[in-house]
Amino acid sequence: MAEPFLPFTRPTFDEATLTGVVDTLRSGWVTSGPRVLELESALERYLGGDRRVRLFGHATGALEEALRVIGVGPGDEVVVPAMTFAASANVVLRVGATPVFVDVDLDTRNLGLDAVESVRTDKTRVVMPVHFAGLPVDLDPLHAWGRQHGICILEDAAHAIGARLAGRPIGSFGDLVCFSFHANKNMTTIEGGAISLPLDRTDWIDGLERLRFHGLRKAPDGSYDVERAAGKHNLSDVAARVGLGQLVHLDAFNRSRLHLAARYFERLQSNPWGLGLPARGDDGHAWHMFTVRIPFDRHGIDRAEFQARMRGLGIGVGMHYPALPPLALYRERCGWQPGQYPNAERIGRETVTLPLFPAMTPTDVDRVVDAIGQALGIPG
Ligand SMILES: *Cc1c(COP(=O)(O)O)cnc(C)c1O
Repeated sequence: MAEPFLPFTRPTFDEATLTGVVDTLRSGWVTSGPRVLELESALERYLGGDRRVRLFGHATGALEEALRVIGVGPGDEVVVPAMTFAASANVVLRVGATPVFVDVDLDTRNLGLDAVESVRTDKTRVVMPVHFAGLPVDLDPLHAWGRQHGICILEDAAHAIGARLAGRPIGSFGDLVCFSFHANKNMTTIEGGAISLPLDRTDWIDGLERLRFHGLRKAPDGSYDVERAAGKHNLSDVAARVGLGQLVHLDAFNRSRLHLAARYFERLQSNPWGLGLPARGDDGHAWHMFTVRIPFDRHGIDRAEFQARMRGLGIGVGMHYPALPPLALYRERCGWQPGQYPNAERIGRETVTLPLFPAMTPTDVDRVVDAIGQALGIPG
């Protein structure tokens, strides 16, 4: 009998979460309420107790409002890696500022301080490091540099809930740190996101609460005033209940990801296909994805054909991400010369995302590796 299709990712929900969701639906309070407050507190405890966390409807909204609360707008520049999800750059354009792309490292896929410093101008207000696939960016030099130049570090930590840099959880320090709880991420609220903030930045915390909900400022007597035409980004209690059920398993999920990644390395360390393996962090690497570069030119097939062959073998293969500067919007707004971001452009051409999710087994990894050999026509 054929083995079941192996997608590149899939969320895991336990029975307690399913029951908890039904209980929340039955409680009569389904939108933002006690479960949202409970998940915010639980995330604050998870991050060590020295931060404020505010939940959002998605990380895209969290990043956009984070830029607004910092005061970023027209005329300002925000440094963004040239290879990330489109949301990282779109939010910059949405607040009227200009994304300034920097190339990423070929193996870590992360930006580095040298590249960031090389594009610094007196308009640079924010740098947005992305902890690609859960591998933490080297933040300490970036924070020191940011303090020196009055530049804010807004972390796109969409891939990095549960990741640790030299033992410190991502989101437990720094300026503003945005997590995503989209269904594909390391923990999910189906759709959702969060911002982690320093306790003493009550200006940012208050500002974000208003930017999250129509610009309303509530008075103690229950009346409110409206100060700006803000959007609406609140998370529902039903979604928060899903998140509470995920958070208790997050560290176990990430340990499972780490073990599966180790199996990929074991099987692929020396491989006959010329695969470019991702950089391997310490056990704080959250392994949101396992991405490899395939030299398609050398194999005489393109990525779409490879993905189709893998699908035929029962394996889902993703693609994260194309380089951003060559895409229509950013080309038009920021300009682009072929070869300007050599690593990002090469990753964009060659990258594939192999299956990696907590419920997978090492045998599933072996199945993926064997299928790669079949799809490329060279046994492993
Ligand atoms: C998923 C993702 C986002 C957006 O997250 P949503 O919660 O879906 O809005 C932003 N940046 C990166 C790098 C992502 O992977």
